Amino acid sequence: MKITFWGVRGSIPAPGPQTVKYGGNTTCVELRTDENKLIILDGGTGLRVFGDHLMSRKEKINTNILLSHTHWDHICGFPFFIPAYIPGNSFTFQGPVHYEQSLKDVMVGHTQYAYFPVRVEDMAAEINYKDLKEGTFELEGLKVHARYLNHPVLCLGYRFESPRGKIFVFGTDTEPFYNVFGTDGDPEAENIAVELNERIVDFVRDADLVVWDAQYTPEDYKMKQGWGHTSTIQAMDMAMQANVKHLSYTHHDPNRSDAAIDKILEDSHEYVKSKGSSLKVSAATEGVTIEL
Ligand SMILES: [Zn+2]
Ligand SMILES: [Zn+2]
Repeated sequence: MKITFWGVRGSIPAPGPQTVKYGGNTTCVELRTDENKLIILDGGTGLRVFGDHLMSRKEKINTNILLSHTHWDHICGFPFFIPAYIPGNSFTFQGPVHYEQSLKDVMVGHTQYAYFPVRVEDMAAEINYKDLKEGTFELEGLKVHARYLNHPVLCLGYRFESPRGKIFVFGTDTEPFYNVFGTDGDPEAENIAVELNERIVDFVRDADLVVWDAQYTPEDYKMKQGWGHTSTIQAMDMAMQANVKHLSYTHHDPNRSDAAIDKILEDSHEYVKSKGSSLKVSAATEGVTIEL
């Protein structure tokens, strides 16, 4: 498998001199199987850049776009994805089912004339939609496991296992489960969150690469618990517990400069060393490919 980052920023694009090194586009990841089959993960503003790249190669595209969820920063690149305007191309969006709307309702809704001049229905490519729930399925020769994460809207993480036994997990946006009502020391109530977090550890267990939300520093998290994002320490603890080989932080905070991410990585490497772990920690960077 080859994993290429086209967008790594969280919440809103953050272009400018402070974000040149890691990139300012919001989430989009290209996954290529060993047979060079394409799966796209999320459609943030990085999808526009990836679309231009695909156009330059002049290939017909018939692919799946797996969405973690439909918050703007994960779908807003789609109207600017030029391959969607080319007849003969086809795309299937797959993503979590919503409480009152299907995935199609949400994707079509965000290109109403009030927001954008071209409707999804008017794009020339064939566009299909598939509502996903937790579960396991096959896609492009990979075994895919979809699991609910903890975010203020239904959000799925995806674990991909190749026939060669390589494992890649993509998890954004999420934070560790906790009991929002407090537990008052009730062990049963406390156990619910513990069990849910153990399921997440199982979900990423033994992965070669985990690309995981780490938008917050531990200090940020104290003020932003419940906003649906993970701190660096939480991400590392999860990865070390699960025997992950390589953890790549993503969904970088829009206010985080390149220098600040460098410092976060430095602190993270010290933390991992202090735990006697061999976990590799990096920060997802636009344009970088990781091969498994
Ligand atoms: Zn997001
Ligand atoms: Zn979100």
